[in-house]
Amino acid sequence: MSKATSTVRKVLIGGNWKSNGDQAFMKSFVPNVLNNLKFEDSKCEVVVCPTLLHMSFAKSLISNNVQVSSQNVSMYPSGAFTGEVTSKMVKDMGFNWTLTGHSERRQIFGETSDAVGIKTKEAIAAGLNAIACIGENLNERTENKTIDVCISQLVPILKNICDIKLWKQIVIAYEPVWAIGTGKTATPEQAQEVHLKLREWIENNVSQEVAKEIRIIYGGSVTENNAKDLIVQNDIDGFLVGGASLKAGFTTIVDSHKFKF
Ligand code: PEP
Repeated sequence: MSKATSTVRKVLIGGNWKSNGDQAFMKSFVPNVLNNLKFEDSKCEVVVCPTLLHMSFAKSLISNNVQVSSQNVSMYPSGAFTGEVTSKMVKDMGFNWTLTGHSERRQIFGETSDAVGIKTKEAIAAGLNAIACIGENLNERTENKTIDVCISQLVPILKNICDIKLWKQIVIAYEPVWAIGTGKTATPEQAQEVHLKLREWIENNVSQEVAKEIRIIYGGSVTENNAKDLIVQNDIDGFLVGGASLKAGFTTIVDSHKFKF
């Protein structure tokens, strides 16, 4: 059993808006939902991820401690890479977070785990915090390969982030692909089992201190109805929420962090 598992870490709740939302949505959702969220910085962080195009607009409407994140960054630091937005640019525009390796990037846009490792390194080097997403697909789970797949996705991140101090800037999002956007959530026990094994792997391969402090959040059809049962698990330190982060029920998901303390 991991020595790191019983610690309570600051909860992180991410809202991944994907390619959804426009100015009208944000003008309504930010004041009506996000600006009414109440959470203490010492206990919880809330980070929403609009498209790159909308990040500054969303931020301009936010009046509390909700933060704004990118959904993706370039593999490259700068240069002739048409259409790419670099981590340094995200940081320069006043943002502190990005996702890397979301399963939709991996599956639809062919991002390899090596590319995700490099993107995560670029993000960290630019001073961003990275929410690095990993997770198995349905076949892999059926074949009992969940942990092997997750670890194979973590290894390139470890190879790229050798300086242990920089792991403070990393959050791992365990997102089983079969649970994303499908309405099929991992049970609290299934998710806890994976989170604990990931923490143990980090303890053995990065450091005990990192394992104790790193936040491992769960993503995959989290809703206002299942958030409480998931968040009370020892090794679940928050959520990455897709569909439900665009609805008023996001408030209940954020409020679920209180069951941790
Ligand atoms: C996601 O996009 O990361 C996600 C978990 O989506 P959903 O909550 O809709 O399953």
